[in-house]
Amino acid sequence: MSVHSGSFPAVRERRAVRPERCELCGTPVAGRHGHVVDTGRRGLLCSCRACFLLFTRCASGDPRYRAVPERYLWDPGHPVACLDWRRLDVPAGFAFVLRRGTRVTAFQPGPAGATETVLPLGLWADLTAGHPLLAAAEPEVEAIVFRGTERITECFLVPIDACYRLVGAVRRFWTGRDGGPEMRARVGELFAEIAWRARPLCGGDD
Ligand SMILES: [Zn+2]
Ligand SMILES: [Zn+2]
Repeated sequence: MSVHSGSFPAVRERRAVRPERCELCGTPVAGRHGHVVDTGRRGLLCSCRACFLLFTRCASGDPRYRAVPERYLWDPGHPVACLDWRRLDVPAGFAFVLRRGTRVTAFQPGPAGATETVLPLGLWADLTAGHPLLAAAEPEVEAIVFRGTERITECFLVPIDACYRLVGAVRRFWTGRDGGPEMRARVGELFAEIAWRARPLCGGDD
């Protein structure tokens, strides 16, 4: 297990400035705007609509840039059991899993950024076989978030920018040894928003 400073923490720094311009072409953007992943630098860029559309999966733009889809999904047909969650071996109450090429990594947000754990390929393949939602996440730009308690595990497919918000909230509001009540409240709000936005996965949903 190791903490990388290259991915999530670095982006948090840059986003703290909150650019009001598209980071690809410089056009001013509204408060609500899309994001594009720069797979070369492993960063998230604020994007105007035109640049966003240029880098959607169907467009033939530079493959280095990938538009972050805006869908949130859950799978009522295949709930993730507590047992599955424990098999990921992440001690935190929540985590997200991101696929980049053949590598599948679990991220646990903490006060110093996100701790990365590369998952054994067999384990992920195993979980994916029973849970189509996990396989539906597009590499680099969509993640699977898990939140677990003793009794239940919630699991959603989310755009990667939702994960940046989780990482940012944990860093910003963390107090004491276990994160403290304000951090937990903020994370709870973000999960409530994810649950509210999520639509059920159905065959071939895109
Ligand atoms: Zn632009
Ligand atoms: Zn932005």
